Amino acid sequence: MNQNIRVRFAPSPTGPLHIGGLRTALFNYLFARKNGGVFILRIEDTDQTRYVEGAEDYIKGALDWCGLTPDEGPGQGGGFGPYRQSERKDQYQRYAMQLLESGHAYYAFDTPEELDSMRKEYEARGETFVYDARVRESLKNSLTMQAPEVEEKIASGTPYVIRFRFEPNKEIVMQDMVRGEVVFSTSTLDDKILFKSDGMPTYHLANVVDDNLMAISHVIRGEEWLPSLPLHVSLYSAFGWEHLMPKFAHLPLILKPTGKGKLSKRDGEKGGFPVFPLEWKDPISGEISPGYREEGYLPEGCINMLALLGWNPGTEQELFSLDELIKEFQLEKVGRSGSRFDPEKTLWFNHQHIQLMTDKKLIPAFQSVLKAHNVNIDDNRLALLVPIIKPRIDFFHEVWEESWIFFQAPDAYDPDVVKKRWKEDTPGKMELLAESLEKCEPFTAESIELQVKQVITSNEWGMGAIMNAWRLLLVGAAKGPGLFDLAAFLGKDEVIKRMKTGINEIKR
Ligand code: GLU
Repeated sequence: MNQNIRVRFAPSPTGPLHIGGLRTALFNYLFARKNGGVFILRIEDTDQTRYVEGAEDYIKGALDWCGLTPDEGPGQGGGFGPYRQSERKDQYQRYAMQLLESGHAYYAFDTPEELDSMRKEYEARGETFVYDARVRESLKNSLTMQAPEVEEKIASGTPYVIRFRFEPNKEIVMQDMVRGEVVFSTSTLDDKILFKSDGMPTYHLANVVDDNLMAISHVIRGEEWLPSLPLHVSLYSAFGWEHLMPKFAHLPLILKPTGKGKLSKRDGEKGGFPVFPLEWKDPISGEISPGYREEGYLPEGCINMLALLGWNPGTEQELFSLDELIKEFQLEKVGRSGSRFDPEKTLWFNHQHIQLMTDKKLIPAFQSVLKAHNVNIDDNRLALLVPIIKPRIDFFHEVWEESWIFFQAPDAYDPDVVKKRWKEDTPGKMELLAESLEKCEPFTAESIELQVKQVITSNEWGMGAIMNAWRLLLVGAAKGPGLFDLAAFLGKDEVIKRMKTGINEIKR
């Protein structure tokens, strides 16, 4: 393993992992595997107010389902742990102190009420309040107070936060592996809070400190974190870690199916498709959000679909296994513009990945559906059915819908089809066909096809009319599987039986 390439997926356990988050994990995983590097899971749980019970297990479950197993993480361990930020609390304070001492940060004692009324004042004047270089000199902080006063306030337990002291009017220029050159001006930025009075760091401090302590070489994350980049870069400088700064890659947004705006949970509810990999039950409201797994999607299909949201292999190839993705993946081929999520295409990927599975591999999945419908069939016989049904399904749960007719005779004959296809002379023709099929040996799809076609030509019957009537007898409807395959699977006796029953029962 190449310890110089270390990437991390750093979700906050604030709820179920959105498929956008899963894509971030996937791209980190692919990058690590492609380069022989290390894929780390770090749980960013310093914001106690947003912690949601069960979310961490959900994240791990989703990664497991997709086969994106971390090399280091809360479950795996590793030499850079602990991997849960709440268990690393003690270190962050030390780093906050370092910034206070070097003058890159300061204590601020402004209460939420004071800041709120300031915001309102600004608003009334048609301006926006920003805690920055222009205003910090007139607020309650360690830049404006004398040292003893600051010490006294801290000693007496006055709540405070520690803010980053941005140097105004500086330009920060960065190379992003996806977006190319990005330029920020510090005059548009506020002095972000790094540390809170509850003894917890904010995301920014903990994230940068841990990326450094965990020797992260590449930060691959969603575009929504791009605005945080100038602060993160400035923190690296403030700590004197410029030379250790990771490379950054900000992944494009995943857009709604309409292409307008970011894909949200609401879009899934409206469009009837999941936006989460696994089903999620909200621990407080009990609300259930559907998951790809429970809806019957294969992880292989989901991963393939997610990989192509933003990444472009540069060829026409659309179907990839995880191993192929690892081989082909390049961060440089991730585009800048948002990628539209297409639920239809997700379905297509699922269908395709079922087709890519060998018939042998499909047998257990088929068996479990059939068992649930009390069908006992041995694997050898089922092996005949799998290739017939496989092209007709998008999901395994459709196996029964597509195959029940192989196990049960039709219990009704669609009256519309009867009206259209069952003519006065049809019963006679069907009887002749049945007689001829009695003589068909061996009873295989090929020989049945030859026999049926021969009966049709020698009697100068119309092919369509005969096939439709025959289908009505065997299936009871106008649609269904290929008749020669069906007949061969059913066997001669069952075919003749279904034909006779139908001829007797169908009344025009
Ligand atoms: N905890 C952040 C999140 O929830 C991590 C962002 C990052 O990767 O820096 O996505």
